[in-house]
Amino acid sequence: MHAKSVPNVDNRSPQERDPRLQSTIIICDFEWNGCPEAVALESMSTHVKTCEHKKCKKCGHSVGQTPEDRHTDDVCIKLLLKDSNELNEKLQNLQNNYKSVENDKNLLTKQMKEMKENASEMDVKYRELEAKHQNLKESMDSVSKSNIKQKHESVDSKPVETNTVDKTADEMKTIEDNVKQTAHRLRDTLHVQYILFGTYRTVPKSVELYEDGIQITDIQPNNGNRKFKYDFILQFNDMQRLAICTDPSLPLLCIKPVEDYNRMVQKGLHLGSNSPNGLRFDINSYDTSEQNIVIVLKERISDEFVVLLSDQLKRLNRRCNCHLIGLADAQVVVSTNVSEPQTTRTSIDNIIESVVSEHW
Ligand SMILES: [Zn+2]
Ligand SMILES: [Zn+2]
Repeated sequence: MHAKSVPNVDNRSPQERDPRLQSTIIICDFEWNGCPEAVALESMSTHVKTCEHKKCKKCGHSVGQTPEDRHTDDVCIKLLLKDSNELNEKLQNLQNNYKSVENDKNLLTKQMKEMKENASEMDVKYRELEAKHQNLKESMDSVSKSNIKQKHESVDSKPVETNTVDKTADEMKTIEDNVKQTAHRLRDTLHVQYILFGTYRTVPKSVELYEDGIQITDIQPNNGNRKFKYDFILQFNDMQRLAICTDPSLPLLCIKPVEDYNRMVQKGLHLGSNSPNGLRFDINSYDTSEQNIVIVLKERISDEFVVLLSDQLKRLNRRCNCHLIGLADAQVVVSTNVSEPQTTRTSIDNIIESVVSEHW
C-alpha cells in the first residue's frame, strides 16, 4: 500500500493555524473623541478609515489622533469661516450660471415668439391669398352662371324657394349687387341709341363692353356704300379722355381717342380728307364737335358701372383722363354735333336709318 500524497495547502487564517497568534483587542485611536469601538489590532486600520469620530464634533473637519489635536474654538471658527466663504463663492457661481441660463432662456423665448409671429403673419398672408383666389374663382363661376341664367331667364323662371325668403333683405341685396357687378365686370352689352364719330351720326348693330375696351360692330361708313361695314375695337389703351354722363335723360360716353385711332376712323369711315360731304372726325380739329366719339345709350348708367369702367380704365391706361359730366355738358356734346348743316345730316341719317331697318 502506498500512502496517499497530501497537498501542501492550508487555507486557514494565521490565528486558526496558531492559537498563540490570537489577536490583541485594542481601542480606537479616536476614543478621546467619543468612539466606543474596540477591535482586533489587524482590523484597526480598516475601522479608522470609516470611523465617524475622526471629525471634530463642532466644525465637522478632521482632527488628529491624540486628545491634543482637539480643536480650540478659534480653529473651528477659522475652518467654519473658510467653509462659509467657499459656500458663498459656490453660491455666487451658481447664481451667475443661473443668470446666464435665464438670459439664454429669455433670448430663446423671444426668438420663439418672433418666429411664431412670423409664422402667423405668413399664415394670414397665405389665407388672404387663398381667399382672393377663391373669390376670383367664385366670381368667374358666377359670371358664367349668370350669363347662362340670362340666356334662359324667360324659360327658366322658378318660384322663389321658402328658405330664400328667410334670408334677410340685406343678404339678398348683397348677392344681387355681386351678381350685377360680376356680370358687368367682364362684359356687357350697351344698348345704344346712336354713335357720333365727330359730326357723323350712325347706329351700329351692337356695342359690347369687354375687359380691354369697347367693340362696335357693323358701322356704316360715311360714303353711302352699304356693302362695307366696319367693326372697331376701341381699346381702353386707345383713349385719351373718357367723359361719362349718368343723367337718365342723356346717358352717354364721350371718348377722345389717340392719334392712331383717329387716323383709322378717318380712313375707314371716310371722315378725314376723304369725306364726301363735310362730315368729319378729327381729334386735332379746332371744332370741338369733330373731336369726340359719343356713344349715346338707351339705358341709364349705374354707379356700379361707372366704378367698374373707370377702375378698369385706370388699370389699363393711367394716362387716360376719366371723369363725370353733368347733363348740361352732355347736351352740349350732343347738340354741338347736331349743329351740322341740316340737309347733309338729315340725308345721311335717313340713309343710315334705312340701312339699319333693312339690317334688322
Ligand atoms: Zn473609532
Ligand atoms: Zn473643530
